[in-house]
Amino acid sequence: MSYRCDACGNKTRFDIFETKRIRAFHHYSLGGELEVEEEEVLDSSIEKVVCRWCGSSDSIRPQEQSDSASESADSG
Ligand SMILES: [Zn+2]
Repeated sequence: MSYRCDACGNKTRFDIFETKRIRAFHHYSLGGELEVEEEEVLDSSIEKVVCRWCGSSDSIRPQEQSDSASESADSG
């Protein structure tokens, strides 16, 4: 999912306010050090998207990803 700001045309920089509910496997070593080994997103919802350029949150439109367009990697 990508976004576009209708107010200023920004398509690349946004603040995403997202709430996630996750299950995480916390694995503690005997020394008490934590390592999160597994994480499953049970639920997630995007509450707000704010344009980094103009600060607008009302004019953000979700954009469909185009299948054909793929970024070509620089070789050289
Ligand atoms: Zn904007």
